[in-house]
Amino acid sequence: MNQPLHFVPTDEFRQRAQAVVENPALQKSFRGAMDFLQNKRSAQFPDDHALQRLRDLGEAIRQYSLSRLPELLETLEDKLTANGIQVHWAETPEEANRIFIDIAQAHEARSVIKGKSMVSEEVELNHALQAAGIEALESDMGEYIVQLADEKPSHIIMPAIHKTKVEIAELFAERIPGVDYTDSVDELIQIGRKVLRDKFATADIGVSGVNMMVAETGTLCLVENEGNGRMSTTVPRVHIAITGIEKVVEKLTHVPPLLSLLTRSATGQAITTYVNMISSPRRDSELDGPDAVHLILLDNGRTQAYADPQLRSTLQCIRCGACMNHCPVYSRIGGHAYGTTYPGPIGKIISPHLLGLDSTYALATASTLCGACAEVCPVRIPIPDLLIRLRTEAYKNPATAGEAVRGAGSAYSSVAMALWHGWAATYRYPSLYRLFTWCASRLRFLTPRKQGGWTRNHIAMQPAKRRFRDRVGRA
Ligand code: SF4
Repeated sequence: MNQPLHFVPTDEFRQRAQAVVENPALQKSFRGAMDFLQNKRSAQFPDDHALQRLRDLGEAIRQYSLSRLPELLETLEDKLTANGIQVHWAETPEEANRIFIDIAQAHEARSVIKGKSMVSEEVELNHALQAAGIEALESDMGEYIVQLADEKPSHIIMPAIHKTKVEIAELFAERIPGVDYTDSVDELIQIGRKVLRDKFATADIGVSGVNMMVAETGTLCLVENEGNGRMSTTVPRVHIAITGIEKVVEKLTHVPPLLSLLTRSATGQAITTYVNMISSPRRDSELDGPDAVHLILLDNGRTQAYADPQLRSTLQCIRCGACMNHCPVYSRIGGHAYGTTYPGPIGKIISPHLLGLDSTYALATASTLCGACAEVCPVRIPIPDLLIRLRTEAYKNPATAGEAVRGAGSAYSSVAMALWHGWAATYRYPSLYRLFTWCASRLRFLTPRKQGGWTRNHIAMQPAKRRFRDRVGRA
């Protein structure tokens, strides 16, 4: 990797979304991919009654786990430590990266092989490692492709979903030494596999995310399909896992229902090819495994969401990506337009806590509130309600906004508020309303042709020539 992978600012969201909407090839590609994923998910849930019962269970487990989060995290740390896994707490991305680099330097590590981890994307770990002179290579095939292209993932489950087969073939031929162009998918996979297999053998540290952490046993659960997760966590002499503090559940029996919801909702699979349950470094009696295992637990705004009874439900997320696959906005603009680590509906509700509402409120407004995301969310996160709440927080008067969300009140405009108050008063008093509509219909020729953001995509609003009251004969 030659260039830092910084995430683009969300204030350019509208321009970037517009650029994708005007690109028919990308539109076709996203539509096809989303249809494919939607159909695969539907095929896994033929019985709606059974699905709803499983969703009830998943929601209850996540809510129960969050209700006991502080206590479960303490138990988790105790159990992991007893098992020989070293636990580190990071409040910010900078702190997480510093902890990681300290561990790497303590082990004199020069290279890192990474399994898929959205939290490592969130903290921009690759960039920090590069700055510290440590080589980092992605081993998930989708992540490897976006790393080769100096891009960021456009989907939380399928990072390179925005790339066509031909684009990947051209990328491999251009960026991997000694590789000729081929657009055979099998050959492309073999090329990637060969590059990565050599790196697994030589990397000093393996990195992974975590799908769930079990407090009662001190177990890290990780699901994947390519075997790269297992290689990353067993071949190098040190394994560092990095994840958010909300991923904890109390018992092992809580894992199967959540796994079933996760894999079916994410990739339309009853179960993934690999399910890794990691409870310790290699024991004396074992042949495989790392000498040391570390877990970095990241806050990065999660406790802010946790502190608010409504916004806490954001943390129920199991990162399946189903809300993205069914979102009419994501399926048209793809993931890069959002400019955040987590795009789509989940990105709209989690990013304000990670990055602040001041830089992300445009995302909350980019929703039709159709509710498709909430309908498919396996743990029933009320995403549209959360979007409305975030919009409200963004447009609150900063003087009274409170501290529920960092950056609340950043979209407040005293002129807009005065107009809304005037509008409300007009509708409250019939005589004022009559006077307003009488004036509006007679002065309609003064209506401006440009009406801010509205006329970017719509024709200008104009009062009717005759009021409704006049049409029905009431003055
Ligand atoms: S919000 Fe729900 S549907 Fe979206 S990624 Fe999270 S769990 Fe999946």
